[in-house]
Amino acid sequence: MTDLLDIRDLSVAYGSGAPAVSGVSFSVAPGAVVALLGANGAGKSSIMKAVSGLVPAQGEMKFEGASIGKMPARKRVAQGIVYVPEGREIVGNLTVRENLVLGGYQVAKAERRRRMEMVLDLFPEIAEKVDRSAWRLSGGEQQMLAIGRGLVSGPKLLLLDEPSLGLAPLLVRRVFDRLATIRAESNLAIVLVEQNLAVTMRLCDELHFLRGGRIVGFRTAKELKDPAARQEAVDAYLGAAAA
Ligand code: ATP
Repeated sequence: MTDLLDIRDLSVAYGSGAPAVSGVSFSVAPGAVVALLGANGAGKSSIMKAVSGLVPAQGEMKFEGASIGKMPARKRVAQGIVYVPEGREIVGNLTVRENLVLGGYQVAKAERRRRMEMVLDLFPEIAEKVDRSAWRLSGGEQQMLAIGRGLVSGPKLLLLDEPSLGLAPLLVRRVFDRLATIRAESNLAIVLVEQNLAVTMRLCDELHFLRGGRIVGFRTAKELKDPAARQEAVDAYLGAAAA
C-alpha cells in the first residue's frame, strides 16, 4: 500500500546557522496517527511547516505517491494537507461560525455546511457558542475551534501542532478523546507534534523522537504500553521533564 505521506531526508534551515531540521525521514500510512515528540526547539514545528509548504525545505516529500516539494501551501491544502498550528491562531474578533467558514473557504457551500455541522456535533462546547467572538472561548474551546476549522477544509492528513499546549489536564483529555472519535469515524491520518508522551499515547500508533533537528528514536505505541519500555524511552530520548 502506498503511504499517504512519505518524507525522505528532509532538512530545514532558516539562516546560515545550524539547520533546524536535518535528514529527517518518516512515513504516514492512510488513517495512521504518527507522533513527533521532542523538547522545545527540537524541530517539530519546522517539520510541520515544511510539510504544509510554509517554509522552504530540502529533501523529498510525497503525498499519495506524488511529489509535493514544489507545490505552494494553498495547493497542498486543496490536496488535503491541513495544518493546525501551535497557539491555535484562530481569529479572535470573528465569531466561532466565521472562523469555521474561514476553514472551508476553498470548499463548495453545501459541503462546507455539512462539515460545519459535523464539527459542531463533535464539539458541543463550541456549538453552544457559534455566534460569540472566538476570543471569548476558553483555551480548550479555542483548541477545539482550531481543530474544527482544520476539519472543515476536509483534510486527508491533519498536522496537529501541540494541541495540549496550555490546556488543563481535563481539557487535554477531552480534546484527545474527540480526536480519537474522529479517528474511529473516518480514515483521517494525523501527524501529531507533542512534548508530552502520556498524552500522545492516547492517540498515536507510532512515535518518532526528535532532538536537535534529527530523529533519534522510533517506537510503536504498542511497544510503549509496557511501563518499563516507556520509562526507557523517556530516559533515552526525552529526559525526565517530559514524562
Ligand atoms: P517548540 O516545541 O518550542 O515549538 P519545535 O520542536 O517545534 O519547538 P521549531 O519551532 O521547529 O522547534 O524550532 C527548531 C529550531 O529552529 C529552533 O532552534 C528555533 O529557534 C529555530 N527556528 C524556528 N523558526 C525559526 C524562524 N522563523 N527563524 C529562525 N529560526 C527559527
